[in-house]
Amino acid sequence: MNITELARRLKVTPNELKQNLPKLGFHIGPRAIQIPDKQAEKVIKIWQEKSEKEKVLAKIKEKISQKNEKEKTSESCKVITLPPTIQVYRFAEELSMSVPKVMSELMKNGILASVNENLDYEIAAIIAENLGVKTVRGEIEQEDLTIALKSKLEEILKKEDKKNLEPRPPVVVVMGHVDHGKSSILDAIRKSKIVDQEKGGITQHIGAYQVEINNHLITFIDTPGHEAFQCMRARGGELADIAILVIAADDGVLLQTLESVKIIQQEGIPFIVAINKIDKPGVDVERVKKDLSKINLIPEDWGGKVICVPVSAKTREGIDDLLETINLVAEMEKDKLLTNPKGDLLGVVVESHLDSGFGPVASIIVYQGTLEKGDNVVIGQTYGRLRSIKDQLGNLVDIAKASFPVQIYGLKSLPQAGELIEVIKDNREFKKRIKQMTQSPAFKQEAFAVNYSQQKDKDKSVKSIKYINIILRTNVVGSLEAITQDLKKLDHPEVKIKILKKGLGDLTEADVDLAKAAQAWLISFETQISKSAKQLAYELNLKVNHYQVIYDLTEDIKEEINKLLLPEVSEKKIGKFEVLKIFQQTNKEIILGGRVIEGKIIKDGIARVWQTEIVNGEKKEPELKGEGRLTQLQINKKDVQEVKLGTECGMKFMGRVKIEIGDILEIYQEIKKQRKI
Ligand code: GDP
Repeated sequence: MNITELARRLKVTPNELKQNLPKLGFHIGPRAIQIPDKQAEKVIKIWQEKSEKEKVLAKIKEKISQKNEKEKTSESCKVITLPPTIQVYRFAEELSMSVPKVMSELMKNGILASVNENLDYEIAAIIAENLGVKTVRGEIEQEDLTIALKSKLEEILKKEDKKNLEPRPPVVVVMGHVDHGKSSILDAIRKSKIVDQEKGGITQHIGAYQVEINNHLITFIDTPGHEAFQCMRARGGELADIAILVIAADDGVLLQTLESVKIIQQEGIPFIVAINKIDKPGVDVERVKKDLSKINLIPEDWGGKVICVPVSAKTREGIDDLLETINLVAEMEKDKLLTNPKGDLLGVVVESHLDSGFGPVASIIVYQGTLEKGDNVVIGQTYGRLRSIKDQLGNLVDIAKASFPVQIYGLKSLPQAGELIEVIKDNREFKKRIKQMTQSPAFKQEAFAVNYSQQKDKDKSVKSIKYINIILRTNVVGSLEAITQDLKKLDHPEVKIKILKKGLGDLTEADVDLAKAAQAWLISFETQISKSAKQLAYELNLKVNHYQVIYDLTEDIKEEINKLLLPEVSEKKIGKFEVLKIFQQTNKEIILGGRVIEGKIIKDGIARVWQTEIVNGEKKEPELKGEGRLTQLQINKKDVQEVKLGTECGMKFMGRVKIEIGDILEIYQEIKKQRKI
């Protein structure tokens, strides 16, 4: 794409664009006139996200100054610590207030978020103050209210008797700046090392995979480009026993490299720097090391402690060294890489999606204990009895040991990436927990749980019924209810409307994922669709509609129903044809010749075949032999659409009827009329 075109799309001058690109981590040189399309798309995405955030911050700053003016808060005001981002329902918990109260305050401030959506600290702080609670910003460790995997793991391991502990493979996360080759490195390892050939299996992309290097297993989280992973970048760090920091040799340390370093250091994760793209001509590995030294990461060969491995994901040079280095680091960390296979379970969701056949599917990694088929599990706002477990090759397995990536089936709805898995063996305890959970405001408000596969099975028996699946988001509960009611009224015996998910706020990526699996229509009323969700919906070619008037919405749905209703079909008799010659006859198709003896005949007309026998010189009562369709008409070997009275022609008749010379075909035209509700 031309720089001028890109600048135009971003509504800035080319010079402004060039000045700002390095700040976003793109180096194109001052004289560049073009930028590769892929990079241009990334620039647009990052630019839009940045300006969106700036707008929100400006709004917030304005509100803070307004607030400061009128505010002389009472000394007794409650103070709570909030993480940099927090889900709405957890925010309500922190405030010790009901979710609806918090949501209505959010709405008053023009913020439309569903209960499970994350709020930035800046927004949460304003809302909290409006509700009479002062806040302080917590550090990044406190961000992971949803996960806290490592601290929980440490807690469990501390309590365990040492003799019950066994080693477990390390879980490795790949981090670094966009385009530095994270996915390529993961692909290179996956392709060359996964042990599937012997078993004849095909590796499935389940968000994580495991390889064996010199008799040691290593588990890789395989989701660097995945949005869910982006949101939980910090949590990604928390999942990792070892991190690989990828830096492209031709680019050096950039913005997201620094962000990754911050997370690695905050989490205290042992890490290896993979200096990638060394196959590129003229690249300078030493320059990357210099960059690293500048941020106080001194490479080993410069007298420091940072292990650097030069690699090329493209040629695979150095990939084996990288894997062996991971083994070495894992060896050094062996006191932490322990698990009690019989102990309490602790696992985490890496990815989840709705499968059109199987329903909610979650890719998970167990860190402690052993997950078993049939276990009762609770994950965030969902639960279920595990129907089945599949390994990375798609094989059904009975258990998932620590660090083995698996997919689990049997959950009632989709869990979120980063949520912890809990197993409740006792059935009564499990039921009690589900009751508590399903009565909680967070669970009730996010009308989420569609057991899609069950729903499909139930509906299979009624084949002729068609469905319009809908995912609906509105700004306020009132319109959600009103629209739901109106849509219910439109239900038709042949076309049913199914609201698979409804909630408040903008359409999210999870909504788009669900829409994809269920082929649903994404509808927002007085709300929008998040940027990333919009992009995803566009890529998946999904229908997204925004409305401000309920009438418009119901009219569109009506139109859709009308399209799906089978048309009303009637017949009109238009002519008769006498069979004079049979050229070819199979049991489904007959090629014959004859003459139009009444009216006209048309291609695609319906033909009823009558036998007219003459017995003892007398014409017998004609007898109906069967019915077929005229799929081709020819006059003098030329295809025609219709043949008039008195004309001879050839035709192809499709139908299981035995036609004989002398038979009369009665020809009918089918008239289709679109039905309307
Ligand atoms: P990510 O955004 O960090 O996951 O980066 P990708 O793996 O998508 O790689 C970004 C671009 O760099 C792609 O065009 C890759 O083909 C290219 N790339 C990745 N690794 C190498 C490498 O080792 N050598 C070369 N020459 N190109 C690479």
